[in-house]
This record gives sequence, structure tokens and C-alpha cells, in this order.
Amino acid sequence: MKKTSADVLPVEGGFGNEPLLAVDNLHVEFHTRQGTVRAVNGVSYTVSAGETLAVLGESGSGKSVTAQAIMGILDVPPAVIPKGEIRFKGTDLLKLTEEARTQVRGQRVAMIFQDALSALNPVFTVGWQISEMFRVHRGMSKADAMKKAVELMDRVRIPAARQRVNDYPHQFSGGMRQRIMIAMSIALDPEVLIADEPTTALDVTVQAQIMELLAELQRESQMGLILITHDLGVVADVADKIAVMYAGRIVENAPVHDIYKGPAHPYTKGLLDSIPRVDLKGQDLYAIKGLPPNLLDLPTGCAFHPRCPYRQDNCVTDHPPLHEISGTRGSACHYWREVLDD
Ligand code: SF4
Repeated sequence: MKKTSADVLPVEGGFGNEPLLAVDNLHVEFHTRQGTVRAVNGVSYTVSAGETLAVLGESGSGKSVTAQAIMGILDVPPAVIPKGEIRFKGTDLLKLTEEARTQVRGQRVAMIFQDALSALNPVFTVGWQISEMFRVHRGMSKADAMKKAVELMDRVRIPAARQRVNDYPHQFSGGMRQRIMIAMSIALDPEVLIADEPTTALDVTVQAQIMELLAELQRESQMGLILITHDLGVVADVADKIAVMYAGRIVENAPVHDIYKGPAHPYTKGLLDSIPRVDLKGQDLYAIKGLPPNLLDLPTGCAFHPRCPYRQDNCVTDHPPLHEISGTRGSACHYWREVLDD
């Protein structure tokens, strides 16, 4: 098939004032027998080189589906992208052929999945799995690719990498397996790395080590990092800015320090209040009331209204747009001023 100009990504620096990655008014639907699941409803965010964006929300908020759309790994059908753009260096990835998309995936934009044990193949050694990236994408010999695998294992701080390169995934701890996944994701020097709940399955001390490792790798290579999480506690030290998602929409976006100083959306406030605090020992833990909405049948008006302590009558009928609070901050709440002043 003849290639179009959209198949060729622009060269370094050829994307003007565009951020490295821009998701613009993205919609993703799943057409099921029960009806249309509106998983992503007009999401926009950007990430620049060397910047970390944390995308936050409960399960079903659309954060992982947005990431899968960026990677081009959604099953189409049942998934459909009826609207929106995903621009990488100014080129809309959604307009690329599958062949061109494959060139971007893993090499320019890579992803770390949350469950390292199921993402790694149990019947191949970790060295084989890491070195395959170099054999397939860089055409390296088996010996050279294995040497690179050892280097990468060293880089993600796996002790005795040279001895352990021929071990199988089950011979590593959960934290070490996640390091192997990180090694595979950065093998081809991607410019954007998406980490989908990279620490969920790990205990707290290992979580901190993995977050530190990601921050360090990002500093070294100036990648744009998109960190997907449901836990506001893990992003404070590593993120530059936060996008909070609810029912497939961004309900608040802001530089990280603004959010911690004072949230401007009741849902963000609920997430912050749910973080356990040592100074409140003995008191009941706060939990946001109710459950996330059914995406087959979203509530009218503001999708958060059935759970919102700030709800007024108009919240049930009027959908709140993302109000601009400042040049870098927005809130999709009619009463964001009250929340901010609280
Ligand atoms: Fe709550 Fe209304 Fe704001 Fe929605 S618009 S978050 S229901 S106060």
C-alpha cells in the first residue's frame, strides 16, 4: 500500500509549539450487547519532554482506556473512537496506518502494565524477553542483544544482572519483575512512557523504590511520563501536574502543588480526604460515598452529583464544563469557588 505523508512522523523539533504528546477531545465508546459504554468523553491533556503528568481516578474512570487509545492497543471493535485526536509531535496517531502505528508503539511511546507477572512470558528467561526488543527492532545479533539486556537490568538496579539474566520471571520478586517490565519499556529509548498503576501490586517500600526509579530514568532521558494511578499518595513527589478523571471526563487539572494546597472539585477533595493520616489516628477513615456511575447510563447533569456533598439543584440537570480557574488549572464543577474556599 502506498504510504501517505501521515505515515511518516516529523523529525525531532519539527512540531513547533506543540507539546510532545497532546490528547485532544478524545472520545472512546464500546459497543456492547447491553448498549454503548461511553468510557472516555472528551478528554484532553498534554505532556512535554521531561514532564510528569499523573492521571488519577477510580476504576472505570477512563484513565487506562485513554492510555490504551494512545498506544493503539484497544480492540476495535468493540471499541470505537468517534472523535478526537492523539498528537505525538504534531502528528495525529489516529490517522496513521497500522504499520506506522507499530513503528511508534514501544519505540517512541511505550507502556508499563500493572501486572508484571502476567505481562511477562513464564516460559522464556527475562534476558531472552528483554533482548528480543533489540533483535526485533534493532536487528542485533543474539549475543549483542543479550549484552544490552544485561546493561538494562543493571540500569534498573537488578542486583547481579549478569548472573540473573538467564532466570525465569517466577524466580524474581514482585518488585524485581516490575523492574524487568520497566527495563523492557525503556529498551528502545521511548520519548513518552505511560506507566499504568505500576506499583499497585507491590508493598509500600517497594512502591517507593519503583517510583524513585521511574523518576530517575525520566531525569536521565527527559521522557514525558504519564503516570496512571488511583492513589493520590504516590504522586505528590513525582508529578508536575495532575488530571483527575471521573466517568470518562477530566474533572480537575492543575499543577500538583495547587491540588495539594486546595482542591477545586469535590471529587478531588474526596480523594485527598481518603488518604490515611497519622495525625488523625483513632478517627474513622473518610470514604467517598456511593459507587462510580454505570457508564452505560450516566447520571444527568454532573455525573458526580449522586455522590457529591456540594450538590445543588442545577447539578442534576446542567452538565458543568471545565471552568478555567487560571492558565494552568481547571475544574468541571459549578461550585468550584466554594470547594476551593472550604
Ligand atoms: Fe458536585 Fe455540583 Fe460540582 Fe458536580 S457540579 S461536583 S454535583 S457541586
